[in-house]
Amino acid sequence: MQKARALPLRSVLHDALHLHCPYCKRGRVLARWPNRIYPECPQCGLSFFREQGYYIGGMIITYGLTLAVVIPVFLVSLLLPDWRIVSDNGRFALWVLFAVPLSFALMPYSYSLWLHLDFWLEPWRPPTRP
Ligand SMILES: [Zn+2]
Repeated sequence: MQKARALPLRSVLHDALHLHCPYCKRGRVLARWPNRIYPECPQCGLSFFREQGYYIGGMIITYGLTLAVVIPVFLVSLLLPDWRIVSDNGRFALWVLFAVPLSFALMPYSYSLWLHLDFWLEPWRPPTRP
């Protein structure tokens, strides 16, 4: 079988951020916010779960993206005027209030990115329908 020509990574990232199927680009990946993924594409039937625990990679991407935002924001916050008005516990609570919703906001995109990167590296096909 002839291998399909791989899309440029930029196109893969674009498709992943739109949360559409990596094969047909029409079916939705996300069934429910923040991380309920359809078992297969509603349009073409491409499986979105290749194996047990498939989206652990998506969780790792969520963690990495969250840190990629939180760490620079933290470093910039060190330049702000004195934070002494807020107690240590208060500052910790503010960081949690920032990081937890951020990770939930990034979760669908991370899961979709994981699916698209896997499909980009090793494409598979939807089952043929009778
Ligand atoms: Zn599809």
